[in-house]
Amino acid sequence: MASAATEVDVIIVGAGFSGMYMLHRLRGLGMSARVLEAGKTVGGTWYWNRYPGARVDIQSLEYSFSFSPELEQEWQWSERYAPQAELLRYAEHVADRFDLRSDMQFETRVTAAHWDDADQRWRVTTDTGTAFRARFCIMATGCLSVPTNVDFAGIGDYQGKIYRTSQWPHEGVDFTGQHVGIIGTGSSAIQSIPIIAEQAATLTVFQRTPNYSMPAHNGPIPEDAVAAWRANREAFRAQSRGTPGGFWNEASERLALETPPEERVAEYERRWQVGGFRILSAFADVPVDNAANATVAEFVAGKIREIVKDPAVADLLTPKDHPFGTKRPCVDTGYYATYNRSHVRLVDLRATPIETFTAAGIRTSGEDFAFDAVVLATGFDAMTGALDRIDIRGKGGVAMKDRWAHGPRTYLGLMVAGFPNLFTITGPGSPSVLTNMMSSIEQHVDWISDCLAHIASHQQASIEASAEAEAAWVDHVNEVAAMTLLPQANSWYMGANVPGKPRQFLPYAGGLDVYREHCAGIAARGYEGFELRSAAG
Ligand code: FAD
Ligand code: NAP
Repeated sequence: MASAATEVDVIIVGAGFSGMYMLHRLRGLGMSARVLEAGKTVGGTWYWNRYPGARVDIQSLEYSFSFSPELEQEWQWSERYAPQAELLRYAEHVADRFDLRSDMQFETRVTAAHWDDADQRWRVTTDTGTAFRARFCIMATGCLSVPTNVDFAGIGDYQGKIYRTSQWPHEGVDFTGQHVGIIGTGSSAIQSIPIIAEQAATLTVFQRTPNYSMPAHNGPIPEDAVAAWRANREAFRAQSRGTPGGFWNEASERLALETPPEERVAEYERRWQVGGFRILSAFADVPVDNAANATVAEFVAGKIREIVKDPAVADLLTPKDHPFGTKRPCVDTGYYATYNRSHVRLVDLRATPIETFTAAGIRTSGEDFAFDAVVLATGFDAMTGALDRIDIRGKGGVAMKDRWAHGPRTYLGLMVAGFPNLFTITGPGSPSVLTNMMSSIEQHVDWISDCLAHIASHQQASIEASAEAEAAWVDHVNEVAAMTLLPQANSWYMGANVPGKPRQFLPYAGGLDVYREHCAGIAARGYEGFELRSAAG
């Protein structure tokens, strides 16, 4: 039987980094809050994605909270790109250090959130039967927290083991001596393939679309770099905040098409040697001009040809259907070189598609494969997936899913017209997944906190995005995306990886620096585009 609803000021859904920091800030405002989380502990992404090789693709010194200087001084990252276990330890440490768990409820999935216009409260229900009434509801449900529903024919008949990268067994998996297949060549696959190949007797990679990947050149962070960071952390953080990506990436104003070819290649080479995303910002015209973009695409293709000994395999691994950077590029350790190992094989699903799973393994149009285990690295219903799975109803009982039937509509990625007092952290229409997510999360949480403080100090009862401001923002998000090459790819940024999902560029491509200023200006002008109402209406 459902229990009586518990009353709190704010319900936060999700205990990843977004939910954790949001709770911390609400405590500072003296508001009561409860975090509801489906998983068993904090960490979100880093709780669920435990596949071999899982680690950040933004350097850890920047992919970490900046809100507490003390936290920063006491935490030491072991590597430039921290692995999942360390990120989860970090999340646990933050939860303990700020005593967050006492207001968190784990193994609790939020199933519905309904706005009650009469008493101006959200009614939030869960799969455990616990229910809540809250003035505010904050969705910290994650951009990449719901795996796609891949529905391969015959998958139920397969007798071997199936593992999803995003729901990896906590005890780990030992592939030693096994014949393993993996479907997908996105970031999750590209990180795990070299490590699975170390263990498995054979590894067969089923690739539908090749991705661009850059070497991480991972390793311990040099001591002098840590010392410099500690001594100047505020300056480093300020520098990151002033960038479009929320991390310092040596952005250049130079144009690839106006740079002599040898100089251009030398610049790409220098940045390739630094590793990670550094090559992305080598020239300002690469994200917006196909001819400029082709210069870096050709450079990376050359790298693939250099590393992969079999020219046919190298060719298959070279992306041809999308400009560089229009799908999230991957950052790897030894990915391309793994294909030089005799027990690793690449299968081109464009030439020979998967027809069905069989009892023994996978049948493509060309061949039958037998596997002890198959790994699904098939991605996420990004940005809208977690919100779509909650029955969210705003004013007049209107379902968010229906409002978004033709694609998500938000104001700033923060609020939705008709859904008062409901915030989305890194929601669709915000820079989010195009950035260092830690920077975007902090910016959103800080903005929401300031907004709630404003509402309290002005004795307002509710805030809601106006339909006009929302429509203008949606247009702006689309216009900015159209100025770039980003919409040219069939990417999850476009919703293209989920059958039936409306095609719309989901994040805001204008840059976190520009967006941050925009959000600050809106707040400074009395929350322009938002309707604030007192209890009397
Ligand atoms: P999440 O960490 O996704 O947390 C959301 C939480 O909400 C989850 O724990 C989920 O269980 C919970 N939840 C969702 N729906 C419900 C519900 N209905 N009821 C209860 N609980 C619910 N970003 C970067 O910037 N750099 C990286 O290197 C990077 N690497 C990544 C690697 C992987 C494998 C993945 C999947 C993503 C990566 N990201 C990266 C993006 C990453 O998701 C963010 O960096 C960040 O961790 C998001 O934090 P979050 O709290 O917003 O969301
Ligand atoms: P992804 O990038 O969406 O990759 C999914 C892969 O599965 C793609 O290669 C896709 O092919 C393939 N696929 C999906 N459905 C398929 C099907 N039915 N048949 C055959 N192949 C299929 O997902 P992801 O690798 O999990 O990464 C998602 C995002 O999470 C990343 O872009 C990144 O933002 C984040 N992430 C970051 C890191 C990191 O380095 N820190 C690691 C993992 C994830 P198509 O391309 O043809 O659709």
